[in-house]
Order: sequence, then C-alpha cells, then structure tokens
Amino acid sequence: MRILPVLGVLSLSAAVLVAPAPAFANKALGPTATGYGGAVSTVDPTATAVGLDVLRRGGNAVDAAVAAAATLGVTEPFSAGIGGGGFFVYYDARKRSVQTIDGRETGPATMKETHFIDPADGQPYEFAEARVSGLSVGAPGTLATWETAARKWGTRSLSSLLQPAAKVADRGFPVDATFRQQIADNAAAFGQFDSTKALYLPGGQPPAVGSTQRNPDLADTYRLIARKGTDVLYRGAVARDIVRTVQKPPVSANPVGTWAYPIRPGTLTLSDLARYQVRRPEPTKSKFRNLTVYGMNTPSSGGVAVSEALNILETAGLSKADVTKALHYYLEASALSFADRNRYVGAYTPQSVVKRLVSDGWAQQRACQIDPARALTKPVPPGNLNDSGCTPAKVGGPTEQGQSTTNLTVADRWGNIVEYTFTIEQTGGNAMVVPGRGFLLNNELTDFNFTNTQAPAADPNLPGPGKRPRSSMSPTIVLKDGQPFLALGSPGGATIITTVLQILLNRVVLGQSLPEAMAAPRASQRNTAGIQAEPAFRTTYGPALIARGHTFGPDVPELGAATAIEFTRNGGFIASAEPARRGSGAAGVVHPR
Ligand code: GLU
Repeated sequence: MRILPVLGVLSLSAAVLVAPAPAFANKALGPTATGYGGAVSTVDPTATAVGLDVLRRGGNAVDAAVAAAATLGVTEPFSAGIGGGGFFVYYDARKRSVQTIDGRETGPATMKETHFIDPADGQPYEFAEARVSGLSVGAPGTLATWETAARKWGTRSLSSLLQPAAKVADRGFPVDATFRQQIADNAAAFGQFDSTKALYLPGGQPPAVGSTQRNPDLADTYRLIARKGTDVLYRGAVARDIVRTVQKPPVSANPVGTWAYPIRPGTLTLSDLARYQVRRPEPTKSKFRNLTVYGMNTPSSGGVAVSEALNILETAGLSKADVTKALHYYLEASALSFADRNRYVGAYTPQSVVKRLVSDGWAQQRACQIDPARALTKPVPPGNLNDSGCTPAKVGGPTEQGQSTTNLTVADRWGNIVEYTFTIEQTGGNAMVVPGRGFLLNNELTDFNFTNTQAPAADPNLPGPGKRPRSSMSPTIVLKDGQPFLALGSPGGATIITTVLQILLNRVVLGQSLPEAMAAPRASQRNTAGIQAEPAFRTTYGPALIARGHTFGPDVPELGAATAIEFTRNGGFIASAEPARRGSGAAGVVHPR
C-alpha cells in the first residue's frame, strides 16, 4: 500500500499553491469503506483521496474519476497514463442509462496484417522484441477519453481536473515496494532509454522504498494540456514528441544493463494522432437472475465473455450450498467463453454476432457441452455460429495474459457511477518515456495476434490499418431490479475476464459479502490445459476439482487487482479494494458510517 504523501492541497484551484493538508490526507484508506455521500475505490490512496476530494467539493462521479485517473497516471505510471488507452463505462442516474467510451489505442493507418512479422525471416517477433519497440505503440486514447467524459457528463473542466495530479507529480509521492519492484522487473528495458533511465533508474538503480518520486515533466505536460487543450497531445508539441519517440526511439549511448533485441522504430505518424477519436459503442447487456449486467463492447472482449459465461452459469441452477459445483461450472463456462472470444471477437465483429454471443440461446447451445460430473478436455472448441445444436466448431488457439493496467470505481451522491479500466498494456508499456514529457508509451498493439491463431478459420484479432487491438478489459456495472447494485473491474490481461466473473460468482451465487468476494482466492481457466490459480485456491478447492477432472497448471502468486462499489438499499456504499494483491488498494467514502 502506498502511504499518503503530504500533498499540501488537493484543491482544484491551480492558483492556491500552498495550503494545509486536508484532514483526510492523514487518514489511512484501507481496502473497505462503508458510508454515504459518494465513494471511490482505486489501487492507490493518493488517487482515491483526490477522487474523494472532488466529490466533497461537489463534483460528480465523472469529475472524480477523471481527477483520480490523472493521479493514477502519476502514481501508477507503469500501469496507466496519457500514453495509453482504456474503456470508460458510465451509469447516468437521471437518464437511468449506461453509456461507454472506447478510448482504445489505435494502430497506424499503414499497419498491415504482417506488422509483427520480421521481414528478415518471415517469423513473428519475440514478444519482448515487439513490445520494446516503436512498432507496438498505438495512438493513445486516454486523454481523449477524459476530455469526452468531462465534457459530456462532468461538471468541471478537464483543465481543473488535471491540477491535483499535476501537484502530486510536482511534489512527489513516496516510493513503495510495488513501485520499486515494477521498476526492478523492467530495469533492462528501462535502462536502454535515456528518458526512462533518468526518471526511474536514478544512479542506475531503482529508487529506494520510502524515497520521494517526483515527475516535474509530467506535471508540466498536464499543465500544458490544461492551458492549451488536448489538441497539444493529438496535433501539437506533445504529438510531435510522441511521433519522434516512436519513429526514433531515444536509445541511450550508455545503457543500464543489456537488452537482447534490436530496438525497432515504428511507423505511427502525426496524422495517426490527429485522426484519433474515441468511439461510443453501446454497452453489452445481459441478464443474470434479477440482475442486468452492462459491460464493454468491442474492441474489448470483456463484455461479451463475462456475459456469455454468466449466461452459461445461469443454465446450471447453482446455489451456495454446492461450492464445488459452482466452481466447476465457473471454470467450464470460462473455458467455453474464451474459445468463442478467441474465434469470434475482434474490433470488427458484427454487432449481430456480439448479440448472439451474449444471448441465452447461445448459452444453452454452449452449456450442453458441460458434463456436471467431469471437466471437459481443454482446449474446448468454439461454438458454431451456423448451427444451434450442440456441435462445436474446430478447436481455437491460445490466449494471452498480462499483469499491467489499473481500474477505478466511483459513485456519487446522485447515484451516477463510473467504472473505468485503463492501461499501457505491459507493466511499463513499451519502456519509452517520451523525452521531456514524463509519461511512458503503450505497447498496446502487441494485443493483436501476431499470426493467425484460429487457422484454418479467420482470426478476428490480426493487425490491420487503423485497427484497435482486442482487449480483455471488463469494466462492469450491474443493476438489480433497475437500480444500481454493483460496479467492478480489474487489471490482469485476459485474466481480467475471469476475475470479474469470479467476484460476481462469489457475491451473487455464493452469497459472500463484497469484501469477502474480493479477497477470496482466485483461479482462471482461459481454455488452456491447466487452470491458473493462486496457491490458496488450489489448496482449498483443488482436491475436489481435480476429482472432477480439472487440471491445474503452475500456481501464480496473484490474479488481478480489482476495485468495486456495492450500492446498499438505503442509499449507502460499500467501497472495496484489494486487501492484499498488488500491495493492496484504497477505498473511501465521503461520509464514513
Ligand atoms: N492490454 C490488456 C488488455 O487490454 C490489458 C493488460 C493487462 O491488464 O495486463 O486486455
């Protein structure tokens, strides 16, 4: 957990430079908070404090989400920031409608299907080589997302919402063990670039835990955007610096450590940035019992996969009395949904197919594969869109995973909700800090499949001109009988889908409280031979699941870093963050109970 810095002020006014720290800044923000007046949950106490401050000053959920997100760009720079993209889901209490912003990064107009094939030998690049290059960088969508959200639904200007984050960047925040470790894990890549080295490897080493991390360049960039508008990043001076970094990576003459691959330039141009636009797709929508589940449409696969799996679970008549049965169906439903996602979901999937995949009819067709007594052999084949029977199509390919990204959840006293997941893809993005600008670039284009994973069928997630790579980000808002019930999301690459699904299973089917559902040990079955599980999951449930034919792969230390808010009947909030994963998160409410 990050300790709150003495910020001095989190005021929205840029003019006030020095003021006493507000009382809340000294209060520890833990993983659970209950109360009234609005709620914020993020992975970081500084970001949560900034969001709460905006709510206290009368801002709405969108204002608070944007200010908190900008702060995460400072304190969680390896997971998210203005060099990346994400998906913003908004529940408008007055209109009682859910709307979304697709701020996914976009490939260059000249991008070909062979983008990640080495012309020298016709083979796909190694992942690390593709990642730490200009080739992996998509036109970033995060700043355009903040602007669109603030303009459409907020009550404050983006300029004012960037000020608290700029102050945090200027004054600094204490380095914690997670921050230091993320740098240590990336030291070889970061050490290749003068700009990244200077910011994150002072004296050639990751900064010490407890030292103060400042980022004056990012503070200046935020203030420049506040003065000149977001165009500065899409058409102006910052755009030029992004393009220069992509086309001529700032490789150091004196690198720290060695990097095994050539650092290849990319082809993103100024016109790719100038052309960037957020999209506003309809959310995915499905029913689970008396709940309506809203998720993110393509190019994310999150909404489709979460909804399909929930629909499959619903066919099984699960109850909290039989936990093994519930987990058996959870793992099977996840595998079946991943098979379909891999085969059918990409940026250009027709909405008729999306609707079919989230329909109850499709869930019936897929659930008929499941044997209640015996796990299916993985990988399972995808379903057949040309058939309504139980015969599947041919087997599909593997799924990627990651660990980066961040998620935040905000609700205000008027009942508006924001669920927002955003990322720069890998922890540390493509490892290049834009010189003089203080932020890392994304490597989101490596979310494309480098070669066809579905042959002889078509792969929906191959690179293409101006295309957005498929995501797994799953910001999810759930209504119960038409009223807000739960909002949640998580980082974790493709495991995002199973983390969101498992928290819903724990809360809704197994009857756990939200903090219990968040803390419970996790497992992820993404249609691979072995289940990926946290050690506590395998110890607790492994024997019973193995007896049903499930196979476990090697343990993983942790899955996801979720945030969530539950809405209680009397107008209150249960804000929930991770109690332990990724160094634990920070939940807060405006008026604690
Ligand atoms: N790039 C991933 C996605 O969009 C997220 C990365 C991560 O969470 O590690 O699905």
